[in-house]
Amino acid sequence: MSEVAQLATALGKRWGLDRALRDARATLAQQVVQLEQQAAELAANESRALHIASHDALTEAPNRVAFQRALAERARRPGSFAVAMLDLDRFKLVNDTIGHLAGDALLRAVCGQLQDAMPAGGMVARLGGDEFGLLYDTTGETAALATANALVAACSTTVTIFGQSVRGAASIGLVVAEAAGANDPCRLLRRADLALNDAKRHGRNCARLFDHELDESVRLRQRIEKGLSHAIERGELSIAFQPIVSGSAHEVVGFETLLRWDTQEYGPVSPAIFIPIAEESNLIHDLGDWVMERSLMAVKRFPGQYVSVNVSPRQFRRQNFVADVSARVQRAGVDPARVQIEITETAIFDDAEGAARTLDALRALGFRIALDDFGTGYSSLYNIRTFALDTLKIDRSFIEGMPRERESLAIVRSIVHLAHSLGLNVVAEGVETQGHVDLLRAAGASHLQGAYFSIPVNAAQAIGLAHRRWLAGMAPPLLARTGTDG
Ligand code: C2E
Ligand code: CA
Ligand code: CA
Repeated sequence: MSEVAQLATALGKRWGLDRALRDARATLAQQVVQLEQQAAELAANESRALHIASHDALTEAPNRVAFQRALAERARRPGSFAVAMLDLDRFKLVNDTIGHLAGDALLRAVCGQLQDAMPAGGMVARLGGDEFGLLYDTTGETAALATANALVAACSTTVTIFGQSVRGAASIGLVVAEAAGANDPCRLLRRADLALNDAKRHGRNCARLFDHELDESVRLRQRIEKGLSHAIERGELSIAFQPIVSGSAHEVVGFETLLRWDTQEYGPVSPAIFIPIAEESNLIHDLGDWVMERSLMAVKRFPGQYVSVNVSPRQFRRQNFVADVSARVQRAGVDPARVQIEITETAIFDDAEGAARTLDALRALGFRIALDDFGTGYSSLYNIRTFALDTLKIDRSFIEGMPRERESLAIVRSIVHLAHSLGLNVVAEGVETQGHVDLLRAAGASHLQGAYFSIPVNAAQAIGLAHRRWLAGMAPPLLARTGTDG
């Protein structure tokens, strides 16, 4: 009996052990499967991570890291190739006016167009924002430029986004790396970037090839920047005043203040050259503050006229701009109604909401606000109607064209008409002849400015002009130019 019992116990143990072993095997098998799954997942994750690290999430195109890697790799191989930087024109405007989703859709659409237009084996990478990098093999500069022009054309298609049609436009700067050249990727990128800036300066929507003069012009810009940084302390700056007269009685209502720079090294340098350079560096803030201080000092000596001060987009967007000018007028004891701020549309449209707030604040303090160079950019009366503006200054290119071209005259007429219906004053700039005066009078322009009345003059001459009237047909421009006490 005890033997039977012992056997039964032994068998029971054995079965128990067998079951445990079976269970352990099953668990192990399950763990192996799990491990294999995890390994596969890890591998997938790793390739996904690699993809994410080298691709742009929005367009799925290779990103900056991938572009730099491809460029470095290409530079080690023989044969000529082109490196290009592409930038969408006025992309911020699309983002700000139609919205970020539209901006994203435009980026994706343009990226697709570029990939379709890119020759086989070439690369389209999104470097960030609205900037793309392009890399393709080529036989030489002519062929490379032709490809770049085709790529620019590919971007200028109209995309319909949320029922709104948006026309894409792009600028390209490119450099061709010769097979035998020393092709440092960083230098190639810098040169493509210089060529891109050149393309943007020359009217956008085009492709420009790098050329060694660009390096030269960079050096010139650096020299100007350096000189400008000492201009205030060296006393090389001054201000010129140009009268703005009423359209009917030709009375002087205000003076635009225009900065002048007379250098020891190169003689006078035009603001059309040094202002853009100052704007690209922080120098514009010191220059702008200096101009504002001098303008406020000058306006106190004018018998009632206002000063119209040019303010660059960067100054205007400065955080404390309103507080700063308001403190300055207070300190100077000048009524803000005697200060007009001249801004350009770039100042408004790069950040429409911020600009609207700044303009409202300035208006509330009593400043006048003028929109300069109207008609040259993208703004229309429709999209400026909500901003707190007092005056539109019609760009002088229209005034100049008026006697010859019907369109210029028609444009001036309709700007004047619509501006008046919005309660805005209109200053016609660059009025040079009696013919201009007559046409502008007929068109109903409320104010005129230009060499016909007076070129920009110094403060003493301006005070002399302040009481002057120009009777129709009685003011030969030469007489006006001499001023009265200068
Ligand atoms: P702007 O604001 O459009 O100034 C008008 C320009 O037209 C001035 O050139 C003026 O001298 C010129 N002008 C005036 N009447 C006539 C005319 O009848 N015919 C012609 N052909 N030209 C005329 P300027 O003084 O060389 O200034 C060029 C630009 O530099 C200005 O264009 C403005 O954008 C900028 N600028 C000048 N001073 C300042 C400043 O203090 N601050 C800022 N931010 N920009 C300034
Ligand atoms: Ca101006
Ligand atoms: Ca102007």
